[in-house]
Amino acid sequence: MKQLDIGVAGAGPAGLAAALFLSRAGHRVEILERFETPAPVGSGLLMQPTGLTVLNALGLLDTIHAVGSRIDRLHGADAVSGRTVLDVRYDAAPGGRYGLAVQRAALFNTLHDAVVADGIRIRTGIDLAAAELRSDRAVLKTPEGAEVGDYDLVIDASGARSTLAAKSVAAPSIRDLTYGAFWATLDGTGAVYDKSALSQRYDKAKVMIGLLPAGRTRRDEPERVAFFWSLKVCDVDAVKAAGLDRWKTIIRNYWPDCAPFLDQIEDWDQLTLARYAHRTALPPFSERLVFIGDSAHSTSPQLGQGANMALLDAAALSHTLASHTDIPSALAAYARARRNHVRLFQLLSLAFTPFYQSDSNGVAWVRDRLVSTIAKIPPIPGLLASIVAGTLIDPFGPAGLTECKWQEDLSLLSGMA
Ligand SMILES: Cc1cc2nc3c(=O)[nH]c(=O)nc-3n(C[C@H](O)[C@H](O)[C@H](O)COP(=O)(O)OP(=O)(O)OC[C@H]3O[C@@H](n4cnc5c(N)ncnc54)[C@H](O)[C@@H]3O)c2cc1C
Repeated sequence: MKQLDIGVAGAGPAGLAAALFLSRAGHRVEILERFETPAPVGSGLLMQPTGLTVLNALGLLDTIHAVGSRIDRLHGADAVSGRTVLDVRYDAAPGGRYGLAVQRAALFNTLHDAVVADGIRIRTGIDLAAAELRSDRAVLKTPEGAEVGDYDLVIDASGARSTLAAKSVAAPSIRDLTYGAFWATLDGTGAVYDKSALSQRYDKAKVMIGLLPAGRTRRDEPERVAFFWSLKVCDVDAVKAAGLDRWKTIIRNYWPDCAPFLDQIEDWDQLTLARYAHRTALPPFSERLVFIGDSAHSTSPQLGQGANMALLDAAALSHTLASHTDIPSALAAYARARRNHVRLFQLLSLAFTPFYQSDSNGVAWVRDRLVSTIAKIPPIPGLLASIVAGTLIDPFGPAGLTECKWQEDLSLLSGMA
C-alpha cells in the first residue's frame, strides 16, 4: 500500500491504537477528537489476553502491566444466600492467561503518551458530524458543515454513539439496553476485597454489585477500585430522589464489605451512569470510511470485551492495509478478518446479559441453579475461561498477531501494581 493520508475520528482506545499502528507503518495520520483535552470517560475495565497482545505488538505491555492489577478469576455470589453462582478462572484453560484490570485513564495514558511520543498530530475540540466522499477522498465535516480535513481514508473510532456511523450506508440499528450501571473509582485502603478477582453480588438479575481492583492511573499514583451498581436507566431519577443514604443502605445490606467504598461517596456526581446499546455495523466499512471499536460494534460490558475488541480491530485494520495494494480490498479483508470473532462475541454478550441484568426471575433461577452447577463440569470451566479471555475462536491470526507467551514472560509480573 502506498503512503496514505489517514484521518482518525476519536481518541479512544481504538483511535489511538490505530493511529500508532498506521503511523508506524509509514502513513500520514492525524487524530480528530471532540473534547478540547482528550480524556478517558468512565471507571475501570478488564484487559483480556486479546487486548494485552495488541498492546504488546505496540511495545506497550510493560507500561500497562506497571499500572494494572492482575485478575485471575471472576467470582459472583448470591447476595442473600452467599452461594457462589459464578466462578470462572483463567487457568481453567491452558496457556497461563490472566486478565489485567486497569483504570480507563491508565489505558488512555499508555496509548496517548505513545501517540505524543511518536509525534502523531491530535486536533482537539472538533465535533465530527459527517464523512463525505469527494472524488477519491473522504472529507470530514462538522455539524455546521465546515470541512476539517480530507483524506485517502477515514477511520471512524468515535464510539458507540458515532454520528459518522449513523449517517453511513453501513449504519447499524441501535438497540438501547434497559439496564445500565453507576460506576465510581474509589480508594481501596482498609477495605476487604479480593485483589485478584472481579467480585460480584447478585439478587436475582435485578441487582448486581461489583468490585474490580483497577490498579493506578500512573506508576506513582495510589491503587484504586472500580465499584459498580447495576440499575434500570429509567429508574435512575427515582433512585436519586429517594436519596443517597437510602441507596447506600440497600447496598450495605446486600454486601457489608462495600461500606468503606460507600463512605467515600458523598454526592451523586461521584457516580457516572453508563448506558449500554447493542449494535453491529455489517459490513464495518463504506467506500473510504471504515469503522473500528464501539463505532463498529457495541454491547453491554457483561463479558468485558469492548476495549479489547477495539484494540483487535485496530491491529487487524493495520495488518490488512499492509498486506493489500488498494483500499477497497484492504477494507474488505479487514471485515473478513474480524467478522467471526465480532459476531461470536456480540452474540455471546447478548445471550449472557439477561442472566445478570434483567427483570426475569426465571432466567436468574436458571443461572443460580442450573448454570452454576453445569459450569463446574469439564470441559465447561475451560470453555468459560476462553469466553472471558476472548479466545474462544482465534482472534490473533486474522489480525496478524501472535499471542504473548504468558507463562514465559514472568518479568511482566514483577512490574505489576
Ligand atoms: C461501564 C462500562 C464498563 C466497561 N467495561 C469494559 C471492560 O471491562 N473491558 C472491556 O474491554 N471493555 C469494557 N467496556 C467497553 C469499552 O469501554 C469500550 O468498548 C471502549 O471504550 C471502546 O473504545 P473506542 O475507542 O471504540 O470508543 P470510545 O472509548 O467511546 O472513544 C471514542 C472517542 O471518540 C470521541 N468522539 C465521540 N464522538 C465524536 C465526534 N462526533 N467527533 C469527534 N470525536 C468524537 C470521544 O470523545 C472519545 O474520545 C465497558 C464500557 C462501559 C460503558
